[in-house]
Parts: sequence; C-alpha cells; structure tokens
Amino acid sequence: MDTKEQLEKFIDIMARFTVYTSKYLPDDVYAKLKELRVKEDTALAKIVYDAMFEDLKLADQQDRPLCQDTGIIQYFVQIGTRFPLIDQVEVGLCEAVKKATILGPLRHNAVEVFDEENTGNNVGKRIPWIDWEIVPDSDEATISLYMAGGGCSLPGIARVLMPLEGYEGVVKLVFDQITSYGINACPPLLVGIGIAGSVEVAAKLSKKALLRPIGSRNSHPRGAELETRIEAGLNAIKIGPGGLTGENSVMGVHIEEAARHPATIAVGLSTGCWAHRRAVIKINADMEYEIISHRGAVL
Ligand code: SF4
Repeated sequence: MDTKEQLEKFIDIMARFTVYTSKYLPDDVYAKLKELRVKEDTALAKIVYDAMFEDLKLADQQDRPLCQDTGIIQYFVQIGTRFPLIDQVEVGLCEAVKKATILGPLRHNAVEVFDEENTGNNVGKRIPWIDWEIVPDSDEATISLYMAGGGCSLPGIARVLMPLEGYEGVVKLVFDQITSYGINACPPLLVGIGIAGSVEVAAKLSKKALLRPIGSRNSHPRGAELETRIEAGLNAIKIGPGGLTGENSVMGVHIEEAARHPATIAVGLSTGCWAHRRAVIKINADMEYEIISHRGAVL
C-alpha cells in the first residue's frame, strides 16, 4: 500500500469509527447504566432508565445517532513515532469528520468564532480538537474519540484556588457545580476532575479523566480514596437519572493530577452525561484496526 492508499484507508476507518461512536455506547458505560437501573426502586427512575435503553435500541434499529447532539468531535491521539501516516493524521482526521458528518448524519456543531458562521461539516479552526501524545518506538496509533455535547462536558469549569483552601476547596467546587448545574448534563453523570498547578492543565486533565474506563481508579491510593468519597457524597444527593431523583447521581468520579506549584491548587471539572460517547481504536502500520472500547465491534 502506498501512502495515498494508506491515507484513504485511514480516513475511511476513522469516518466509520466516528459514526459508530455516535450510535453505540462503550461497553463500560452500557454496563454501568444497567447496574444503576437495577438499583432504582421508584417508578419514575425506572422509566427514565428504560427510556435510555429504548433510545439505544432505536439508534441501532434505525441506524441513527443515539442523541441529537453529536457534540464537538475531540480526538486524543497517542501516536507512535514510526506510525507511517504521522505527517498526515491531522488532515486525515479532518477529512474523516467531514465524511462522518454526511454518513452519520452528525449535527453541525462547529461555529467559527469571528465569522459567527456554522461551517456545516463539523470542521473549523482547531476543530476537530486533536490532543497529541508521542509514543516512542512504536508504529501504531491509539485514538480515543469523545463527542463533547453542549449540555455536558463542554460547559466544564476551571479555577485556581488559594493553597489555604486545600483539597477541601476542590471538593467544595465539585459539589457546588454538580448541585447547581449537574442536572443540565443529563445524569447519571461521569465526573472528571483535574488537579494541577495551572488552570489550563487542570482543565485538560479533567477531560482526560473522562476518557478512563468506568470502574478504574486513580493510581495513587489517596487519589483513589478521594474519588470513592466524592462519588459516595454525590450519590447521597440522589440526583437520579435525568435529574429527576433516584438512588444515585453518578456513573463514576475520576481524578487525574499533575504536580502543582506550592502557591496554587488549580482544579478543572468536566462532566459527562449518560450518553457518554467515548471510543478507543488502535490502528497498526498496515491500517488494520481493533476497537478496544466496544467488544466485537466491526465497522
Ligand atoms: S447532555 Fe448528553 S444526552 Fe443530554 S442532550 Fe447533551 S449530549 Fe445528549
């Protein structure tokens, strides 16, 4: 396969992968929703969960996105230094999004800021958003795709706390935000928290926290404990599915951290909704793929 053929294959795979992500939840999210449904004992909460599963069934039967808001497309790329298309990945992903927008169909969600014009194909300045991580001595690319909806993870927040506010300040910010705006994000929520020294790092880490599989824990025991305690506290509020009250509020709480400056505690918060469209694909140098997030998926 020459480079032109490789690029065409890459674009085709990523377009179909992007469309697939809009229609099917990853295995961990689906399993968590099932688990939370069983725990509900009020008629209203059960009805809301059943409506979600009915929605997923209809998306499959009618070959349509599972939510009308297919979000801003964000790719988190871990790219091997020897991946053959390393120079063309950005161009390839933009073309894939244009194709996916027609194939999906995906809602048109890219508005150029100073033209105030919707591009009509989900591609615009710096959109799709691409986050890069270089993987030494590898010829593979692992790409996580997240569809960031206007009601859920896009309205995240980030603030820099004074050091005396301590990690209690992080907890307060999370609870203040989730109890005031959480219901807008179609609960049950996946809560991503970033803690760092500066606002942009904390914000980015809060989004990366949403990419972790549900059920995973922070690698530091204290981080894992904080996740568990915040999760228990948010569940005790009983926001319930759709924000209509129920036994739980969240699918999980994930924290990612970077070492901070002694004088700052920056905190970022990103919130995923029940329709948490996150998918992971691995592509090798021969343009063969494996979808890691959805067992048995074929494009
Ligand atoms: S919050 Fe999620 S489920 Fe609700 S409208 Fe937005 S993308 Fe769809």
